Amino acid sequence: MDEKNNNLKGFNNFSKFLAIYLLVAVFMFYLYQYFTKVQVNNIPYSTFKELIKEGKVKSCTISDKYIKGVYIDKNGKKMHFITVAVNDPDLIKDLEAHNVKFSGKVTNTWLTNLIFGWILPFGFLFFIWWLMTKKMRGTSGGLFGFGKGRFKVYLNEKPDVKFSDVAGAEEAKQEIQEIVEYLKDPQKYQRLGGRAPKGVLLVGVPGVGKTLFAKATAGEAGVPFISISGSEFIEMFVGVGASRVRDLFNEAKKLSPCIVFIDEIDAIGKSRAFNSLTSNDEREQTLNQLLAEMDGFDSSKGVIIMAATNRPEILDPALLRPGRFDRQIIVDKPDVNGREAIFKVHMKKIKVGSDVDVKKLAQMTPGLVGADIANIVNEAALLAARENKDAVYMEHFEEAIERQIAGLKKKNRVIKEDEKKRVAYHESGHAICAYMLPGADPVHKISIIPRGLAALGYTQQLPMDDRYLLTKEEMIDRVITLLGGRAAEEIIFGSVSTGAQNDLSRATDIVRSIITQFGMDEKLGLMVAEEREGGRFLTSEGILTKGDRLSEKTKEIIDEEIVKILDECYAKAKEILINNKEKLLRLAELLLKKEVVDSEELKKVMEDNSGD
Ligand code: ADP
Ligand code: ZN
Repeated sequence: MDEKNNNLKGFNNFSKFLAIYLLVAVFMFYLYQYFTKVQVNNIPYSTFKELIKEGKVKSCTISDKYIKGVYIDKNGKKMHFITVAVNDPDLIKDLEAHNVKFSGKVTNTWLTNLIFGWILPFGFLFFIWWLMTKKMRGTSGGLFGFGKGRFKVYLNEKPDVKFSDVAGAEEAKQEIQEIVEYLKDPQKYQRLGGRAPKGVLLVGVPGVGKTLFAKATAGEAGVPFISISGSEFIEMFVGVGASRVRDLFNEAKKLSPCIVFIDEIDAIGKSRAFNSLTSNDEREQTLNQLLAEMDGFDSSKGVIIMAATNRPEILDPALLRPGRFDRQIIVDKPDVNGREAIFKVHMKKIKVGSDVDVKKLAQMTPGLVGADIANIVNEAALLAARENKDAVYMEHFEEAIERQIAGLKKKNRVIKEDEKKRVAYHESGHAICAYMLPGADPVHKISIIPRGLAALGYTQQLPMDDRYLLTKEEMIDRVITLLGGRAAEEIIFGSVSTGAQNDLSRATDIVRSIITQFGMDEKLGLMVAEEREGGRFLTSEGILTKGDRLSEKTKEIIDEEIVKILDECYAKAKEILINNKEKLLRLAELLLKKEVVDSEELKKVMEDNSGD
């Protein structure tokens, strides 16, 4: 839309330029003719020779057709003459004898005048003009527009993307529903006493559809969508970033209710802590302006700021405070079902052959995101077109998937099959231990979607209720659950991997606190050997203190006890898994097939005793 308008404008400018140029050229040509017009006498060659002999010819120019020159007439007046050249070998001798200045010609006519005098210089000017506007066309408004916004504004033409165009992401759609309601009628929402939302942070890796989702939110609410990328704020000139933020918000207020979408917000919102070496004033000014604008505008105006990032942990905490981006929606990589749905959305735009099995395609593309799938469908359609097929068939999709995955492999974004298997058993180990142990929190979801938000896989446990007190048994059950992943790897593969590192440090942490903080160890007794400051309960945050006041002997006992309890817990985890090996195998298979397993499905696997 934008682009087309600009090209059109460029074309109009061009014809205007051409018309003006032609007018000026014609005018200048006649002007030139008028001023250079002189009386020229056409004289016979014989007269010319006589004039030479009389010494009347002052100068002449000889070409192979004409001889032009100046002579003095009877009245002593200077006159221009022209005569037809004849083959006259004596001419030069005569001219020299009578001291006539002469030169060879140079057929200097109006044509060469025109070319060298007018067309070339103007052509040059035109070339420069073309270069300039080309640059302008490229950056839509760029050259003369910096400082002024460069946002794609979908004025009145509101985005026609709907939630149905965003496949999967059902949880995210539900979470954003409130925002949609609000944007449909901000005043009504507030009359009913709702607190106006302001900022929504979409978290997810590139290509999962964050931009699409934000656009669909605007589409559902029927409001305009303004978007800009965080890196665009600060790319050009110093001092421009802050003024761009101001422009952006002024624009948004005019269009409200509307959605402002800031992609890659980490480009401006990076925490100062991550940037202490290279202090970047420009970025900081831009960030401060953004914070000021978000605080400043009246939320009843109906402007919702949505922002996207894949690194929420590096954002400046100031951005996440209440009244700013206080809502965070996670857009994770799609699982098998999600991928199937995304394939279907994009297949609507092409003619699909009868042999295409969408389920199979989804199974063939673990770890890929919506953008990858959109690419695959497009590529498959191109392949089919190249072969002049009447529709896009399975073979085309398969080839397109191969190409896409080969491209991603180079970028190291594809997980290997045996890695995936190991992760499936590891996570199943956690889940089964948690299921079997009364003290562990129940499992909510197990996921092995590769390179999603977590590096490999994760087992999500929900606490039964808010707990302030934990018994020693409950803490031990948690440790066993944490060690279950490594235990499963050892049972199935006979070896362990580095994937359990985080589990181990969390387990060690809990055991250490059992011994040193809660007085639950028989050997050490009630003495509080260490205290934790700042960190939350049972996390690895916070600082251990008092440690340096312990005697060497106590320290030795602590280390011994930690090792002993961890060993006992690990043995217990292995025992649980060996006793439930059949279930472990089945759960891992299910995970490999579905990538995400919820609590219901886990229960089904665990209560099915047919295989044991
Ligand atoms: P992000 O902003 O997270 O990097 P985009 O929104 O730019 O990702 O996604 C790029 C493209 O990928 C979209 O335009 C769309 O064609 C496709 N896509 C991504 N996720 C989905 C999805 N859930 N459903 C349908 N298409 C999707
Ligand atoms: Zn683990």
